Amino acid sequence: MAKHVVILGAGVSGLAAGWKLASKGVSVDVLETDNCVGGLAKTVKEDDYNLDMGPHSFFSEEQWVIEDVLKLFDYTLAPTPRTVKFFFKNKYLDYPLTPRGILMQMGPVASVRVVLSYLKSKLFPRRNTTLGTAEETVEDWAIASFGEYLYLSFFKPYTEQFWKVSCKDLSSRSIPTHTKMSFFNTLKLLLHRRISKKNASLIEREMLPTYYPKTGFGEISERIADTVEKLGGKVHLNCEVTGVSKLDGGKMRVTYKAKGRRKEIQADYVISTIPIPSLVKMLKPAPDTEALASADKLDYRSLAVLGMSTEKQNVLGCSYMYMLDRPYNRISEMNEFSPQTSPEGENVIKVEIPCLPGSTAWTASKQELFDMCIGSLAEDGFLGPGDVKRLFLVKEPNAYPIYRKNYAEHLNKLLSSLKKYPSLATLGRCGEFMYMDIDVCMIRAFKFVDSLLKQWQI
Ligand SMILES: Cc1cc2nc3c(=O)[nH]c(=O)nc-3n(C[C@H](O)[C@H](O)[C@H](O)COP(=O)(O)OP(=O)(O)OC[C@H]3O[C@@H](n4cnc5c(N)ncnc54)[C@H](O)[C@@H]3O)c2cc1C
Repeated sequence: MAKHVVILGAGVSGLAAGWKLASKGVSVDVLETDNCVGGLAKTVKEDDYNLDMGPHSFFSEEQWVIEDVLKLFDYTLAPTPRTVKFFFKNKYLDYPLTPRGILMQMGPVASVRVVLSYLKSKLFPRRNTTLGTAEETVEDWAIASFGEYLYLSFFKPYTEQFWKVSCKDLSSRSIPTHTKMSFFNTLKLLLHRRISKKNASLIEREMLPTYYPKTGFGEISERIADTVEKLGGKVHLNCEVTGVSKLDGGKMRVTYKAKGRRKEIQADYVISTIPIPSLVKMLKPAPDTEALASADKLDYRSLAVLGMSTEKQNVLGCSYMYMLDRPYNRISEMNEFSPQTSPEGENVIKVEIPCLPGSTAWTASKQELFDMCIGSLAEDGFLGPGDVKRLFLVKEPNAYPIYRKNYAEHLNKLLSSLKKYPSLATLGRCGEFMYMDIDVCMIRAFKFVDSLLKQWQI
């Protein structure tokens, strides 16, 4: 008899898993709490405006993943250039950030201080730090790698503005690999560009050709969901999963709420892409108390994206810009991605406001967020109050898994507790509590499904 898999969450990971399973004749039901597919990579539609959760682009080093995605489209999806800037102390820096760029823009006096402070950190390393331990913090790593001056003037303010967590409490694993390369290694790399393919850095990854669909990034997920359904699978929206139970005989039961009613569905296997702490808390039989306590220690940073429609064009002079010392950490211009994301003659400028669940920014209305941002937008010459026609707000509670200094220990406890549920697996950015881009979500989902099909001899 055909196997039946229930997938929790219709983000890219869940949909990619559903796509691969359905293409091999496996019966698939995808349950999604939202009223649209795509999760973090969705596009919310309001009248003729298509709003992404922050600007997204599709890119990959793996040509086969790109080809799989391009095949979903009935028009040619050509690479679109993406230009990025970093606005720091009223100056524009190249992005990806380079030590050379930072030094050049800081000016000669600050540059000398950076170099002296760097030399001090190498000649007289600080003692009793977390450096090299499992709990290495951003603060200890950054001071050892860049010196105290660059840490205090740049890394600390930027990291804390983004994460809303002190650098003393954040794991150094929060810093992307390209930034993590030590100061001189990075400079050497940039000067000599000697890097093997295998170790391709994120610097190179950010320079890959990028793709963006006409009607918003969510079109990728919408097209995968259509393909799942064409292959016989079902994608159910507005279904909030509330329980996952292990039954006798290896089967699983998933309980969910739809239109205010409690429903359930049985499966041979469950793939969960919902946040791992929520999954652990809804399991039956319940995991041990240690795992449940660890579930409370893993949290996500939230994101509020405020969209402002305007008739102004070419506002930023780039696709998006990272900002320091503003209520938002990034500003983007949607016509640089696709003019079809708003009505003709209009443009949407978006700001991403980092926040923690329950904070003032998280609970604020779109008008309150606009009032909070418009001063900086006007000061920087982007938008004045009279330029804005309409406001949009998209919120995501679980945008970024926060790598607190001891998160790995708690995550391992959760992952070990899941071993008692042999017909259950977790995948994806929230499901695995791991930063990953769209292509990686897809590759991991495809690989996982391949191993499951092999186990089932399909
Ligand atoms: C601001 C921002 C910009 C980004 N930019 C890029 C980029 O340019 N390029 C790139 O490649 N990647 C980018 N990423 C990363 C990318 O968005 C994610 O890696 C990817 O979307 C994660 O997909 P996922 O399916 O693993 O998780 P999610 O998208 O989080 O999917 C999980 C799904 O589960 C659903 N769910 C949760 N709880 C329940 C429940 N109880 N019942 C039912 N359903 C539930 C959620 O609604 C969601 O749809 C960006 C991320 C962010 C936040």
